Amino acid sequence: MKRSFSMSEPCIICVAITGSLPTKANNPAVPISVSEQIESTQEAFEAGASIVHAHVRNEDQTPSSDPEKFARLKEGVEKHCPGMIIQFSTGGRSGAGQERGGMLPLRPDMASISVGSTNFPTRVYENSPDLIDWLASEMRTHDVKPEIEAFDLSHIFQAAKMHAAGQIADAPYVQFVMGVKNSMPVDRQVFDFYVRTVKRLFGEDAPWCAAGIGAQQLMLNEWAVSSGGHARTGLEDNVRLDRETLAPSNAALVKRVVEICEKHNRPVADYATARSILGLREVE
Ligand SMILES: [Zn+2]
Repeated sequence: MKRSFSMSEPCIICVAITGSLPTKANNPAVPISVSEQIESTQEAFEAGASIVHAHVRNEDQTPSSDPEKFARLKEGVEKHCPGMIIQFSTGGRSGAGQERGGMLPLRPDMASISVGSTNFPTRVYENSPDLIDWLASEMRTHDVKPEIEAFDLSHIFQAAKMHAAGQIADAPYVQFVMGVKNSMPVDRQVFDFYVRTVKRLFGEDAPWCAAGIGAQQLMLNEWAVSSGGHARTGLEDNVRLDRETLAPSNAALVKRVVEICEKHNRPVADYATARSILGLREVE
């Protein structure tokens, strides 16, 4: 019997703590150093996040892909947030080639991957077929579950094609990214079509998540939670609570999603539930 979505299904909250763009000039709460990142992650974990999506930065706040920084971050999160799902970004330094996957041998639970290119506010976010194939193969080698960042409908179909070809081991876990300037805007009809497409390609119960950029983060949180998806928040995507108020922390943004879950009667997934929903290995 086909099971329809039940509103009692737990919602996984992912916190994107840093990203590659926002700096302390945008919001002093953006964690830049590894120790700031660990502290911010712990607060967010205690507030209800069960996935941390992380980029690392140089001391001058520019994006880095230094595996040594990723290693220290992973060690700190494992110590202070035992069980939390660690997801590294392979997207932080467009143009940097295979350096973007240099941290995958550290075997984080997950890594984000973009399976196509798109325009960003001031540049092309370039993901060549060769690089995508290589990143996917590294993730298989090191048992890292990919999260597909869908900036466009074609990226969902590309993920299906890669899954059919054995390049992505499990049914793809897709995140819809909406509201990046010059890429897919926040549009309810497109969002609903994305959800239907994921169900059609990967199964009625396939988990999915969504992220909105800037002021629209809250709207995507609301749409995802109320439609049976999982939600991403964090200072990477948005540094404000509202027009006048900077978010005081990543945890404050996580708390907003917890409230949305309460409003829609969805329990917040703890890390063990989140690991089970995503088919991840048990904590080592
Ligand atoms: Zn990211």
